[in-house]
Amino acid sequence: MSALRGIGASAGVGIGVVLKYEDAPPTYTPHAVEDVVAERQRLDAALARFREETEQLAKRMDETGADGAILRGHIAMVDDPFLREQLQNELEGGSCAEQALATVCDLFISIFSGADDELTKQRAADVADIKTHVLKLLLGVKSVDLKALPENTVLLVEELTPSMTAALDRPHVAAILTEKGGKTSHSAILSRALKIPAVLSIPGALSALENGETVIVDGETGEVFPAPDAALRAQYTEKRQQLREKAAREEAFRGKPTQTADGDPRKVYANIGTPADIDAVLAGDAEGVGLFRTEFLFLDRTAAPDEDEQFDAYQKVALAMRGKEVIIRTLDVGGDKAIPYLGMKREENPFLGFRAVRYCLAHEALYRTQLRAILRASAFGNVCIMIPLVTSLSELLRVRALVGELQAELRAENVAFDENIRIGVMIETPAACLIADLLAKHADFFSIGTNDLTGYIMAADRGNADVGYLYTVYHPAVLRAIQHIIASARQAGIPCGMCGEAAADETLIPLLVAFGLEEFSVNPASALSTRARIAEQSAARCKLIAAGALQLTTAEEVEQYLRREARQNRACGRGVKSEE
Ligand code: PEP
Ligand code: MG
Repeated sequence: MSALRGIGASAGVGIGVVLKYEDAPPTYTPHAVEDVVAERQRLDAALARFREETEQLAKRMDETGADGAILRGHIAMVDDPFLREQLQNELEGGSCAEQALATVCDLFISIFSGADDELTKQRAADVADIKTHVLKLLLGVKSVDLKALPENTVLLVEELTPSMTAALDRPHVAAILTEKGGKTSHSAILSRALKIPAVLSIPGALSALENGETVIVDGETGEVFPAPDAALRAQYTEKRQQLREKAAREEAFRGKPTQTADGDPRKVYANIGTPADIDAVLAGDAEGVGLFRTEFLFLDRTAAPDEDEQFDAYQKVALAMRGKEVIIRTLDVGGDKAIPYLGMKREENPFLGFRAVRYCLAHEALYRTQLRAILRASAFGNVCIMIPLVTSLSELLRVRALVGELQAELRAENVAFDENIRIGVMIETPAACLIADLLAKHADFFSIGTNDLTGYIMAADRGNADVGYLYTVYHPAVLRAIQHIIASARQAGIPCGMCGEAAADETLIPLLVAFGLEEFSVNPASALSTRARIAEQSAARCKLIAAGALQLTTAEEVEQYLRREARQNRACGRGVKSEE
């Protein structure tokens, strides 16, 4: 059979045996109930057990360095007052506990699946997960034990749910395959956190693959090879070995300063979503947090976190980083990150809509709460504020004024904060890029958000496969934008970092070094390899590569050229040898 293809969501090579796992909700016979109070108690007991089991799974995730927050979000969902009220109504209408639960969960599933944005759609999978779990508890059905899997299992599921991932017998899982779920789905985030190679969204995988069949999974390219012959097995065993050796070689860079081959200092920071990610940052030996995506604190709940809860989260990160820089991005809501309880309107063009700093400045109470929490946390470490989706100088100046007012407020209350807190701008829109010189006069630093910048410059939605060929950071327009932003920062004497995915792209590193990028903020698992790549770069060679790349006219040419250069660099023995 030829290779199956899906989305490479968690890099690495897995070779193992397929195990299909179907987690369909158990069946039951709906029946009318007269003793509503007793039925309510039965349901409450199952929900209490659900809370307990889910909290245990979340703790297990935390202990393995992954993030239990998604599972704790499930507990918040079953405690949601609206959901509880709906359950009570169903019971009072004479439904049995199973029926009441199924009806209410199905209602939430249909609301969430009708949403336009990916993140809200994923909530539907979360509710389906909760429904199956609680139904099993009500009916006393035991699940297949994912905690005790045969060695080298390639787990094949329709969609990986957070509770499945949390229960996984990690050392025995060679790879994960699914029929549903994209790169930003919880399945993808969790499999990356657990470092399990994963290919998602493989059409027809459940019928194309058989239980017990051997497959090779390439989580980088998104390819799955059923029944591999000896030659292919040998090729991928070699690739897996190279990846392991490469990771081992990169260990030599642990604890070392980040610098180029000429000793020119740079910084490797990490991106995080919640305080639980700090363990991965420390394990990855990143020198700071270049992007704290605070919107994750606002997801999977029914109301915004208050000042104290936010302060707690920011303070935890500031303390854990022990004086190293922590760049906290203020709420980047909207676009693909809708938060239902914030009452945002449906938009025709959410990526061009009422999002991020635009929304926050119009909802000042919400913004003040967050900024106060960040300011209070700044007394406990080296904290900076970063503003997302800036398009105008006035936005930066308004945030600065607001921060000034809040500082005065805190001073009057005798609450400690950093008087010199730095306020930076994410450069991720063409407008911000074109006025980078004006912004630089009032910003303490820049960080380039290449994920959005690429989409906005190329006018190509990163989620739309039909225009995927245009969504590329190698396009000369995007490269020129990056060069211009860094040059503007340097001219104004402010530091410039990059926190989009491009910062971890090995082939781009010579270019970014030549442009003068100071700080590379990457996912925590890529920190050491980014430091290793930077160490291979000499100023003279980077300059030559940049000059060559900037003469090319298409993204394809640039990509091929940079790949060729990276290959040659390795072949010359300047760099550590790694997989192609
Ligand atoms: C970016 O746009 O590059 C970025 C880092 O922000 P996000 O991916 O959260 O939009
Ligand atoms: Mg962005």
